[in-house]
Amino acid sequence: MALDSSTIIIDDKDIETLTAFRRDLHAHPELGFEEVRTAGIVAKALQDAGIAVHRGLGKTGVVGTLKEGSSRRAIALRADMDALAMPELADRPYRSTVANTMHACGHDGHTTLLLGAARYLARTRNFDGTVHFIFQPAEEGRGGAKAMVEDGFFDLFKVDAVYGLHNMPGLATNEMAVVAGPQLASADSWEVVFNGVGTHGAKPHLGRDALTVAGHFLTALHTIVARVVDPLQPAVVSACAVEGGDFRALNVIPDEVRIGGTARAYSAETRDLLEQEIGRLAHGVAAAFGVAARYEFLRRIPPVVNDKAATQNAYRAACRIVGSANVRTDFPPSTAGDDFAFFAAHVPGCYVWLGNGPAVDGALHHNSRYDFNDAAIPTGVRFWVALVEQELSATA
Ligand SMILES: [Zn+2]
Ligand SMILES: [Zn+2]
Repeated sequence: MALDSSTIIIDDKDIETLTAFRRDLHAHPELGFEEVRTAGIVAKALQDAGIAVHRGLGKTGVVGTLKEGSSRRAIALRADMDALAMPELADRPYRSTVANTMHACGHDGHTTLLLGAARYLARTRNFDGTVHFIFQPAEEGRGGAKAMVEDGFFDLFKVDAVYGLHNMPGLATNEMAVVAGPQLASADSWEVVFNGVGTHGAKPHLGRDALTVAGHFLTALHTIVARVVDPLQPAVVSACAVEGGDFRALNVIPDEVRIGGTARAYSAETRDLLEQEIGRLAHGVAAAFGVAARYEFLRRIPPVVNDKAATQNAYRAACRIVGSANVRTDFPPSTAGDDFAFFAAHVPGCYVWLGNGPAVDGALHHNSRYDFNDAAIPTGVRFWVALVEQELSATA
């Protein structure tokens, strides 16, 4: 293929190969940290393209490294490989062959796009610097990004910036959304245990009633978002489970009542505030009524907040591929989470949305009929290539 610095051509044969690859992944989905087959195929394809491969980072994670020229600049591009534990209900020739396991978030597509870009770049090498292709396991709540970082990703690989991409139904396959600031919420959980003194239901004065304390706490909980958090900062605090007492013993006030829930925010400051305020309220209400409280806030996924400069870079690359009229910069953030945030916590990062076309039969992410749209393959591959050629420009 002739190399033209201004044009990134993904020809019909490339598209055919990548489409077959994507459909094969779709038919053989694997859950988080179990992506043995997928990681094997990815690693082999990278090696066949002449790309150095590092395996076993975060159990099933794969990192491909492609270096060209003498520049010390390096960027990382991330794709996720895992599927979800749910049945696929749509009838398609490449439907899942694994019971109760399905690529319902399009990660089969993400893996394909990044592999397509890696193969293209290994062939054309129109850049100067190093690009790391991250194939991450276990994005769907099992902690794959964290595991890769804890296994020393940033010690092994020097990276100046990291980029992530997710498919988005509702945007056309030649459309992208590239937006600075918050993209995805933090997703944390919390638990409070009130320890009173259990007693006979007829003699409450002889104990300390943890159930009544729990009631006051639940009512007060919603003052955090309403009265403490800045009204211009989105935040959610929800209690989702309560446990205490026994319906077979309605003459017993229990010793202990347990309450748990979720907390979501789009900024590190608001996230910190929620952690602090839920605990303050739990201990404060407990103290007011003379019982003890145990509080735990489990930080699961930080918010994804796009760095301004990295977003400008991604925006320029997207404009080159789909034209500025097709790059949305006003796209609303999602209340879902993505552990891409663990990579972006170390270096400037940007997470972009790639159009997946209309929602077929109304199926959105995590629906049992959802599917990555193969028509988005050329746009996605060309975007990754454009970003590398731009950020590691050979002519700079
Ligand atoms: Zn998902
Ligand atoms: Zn996803």
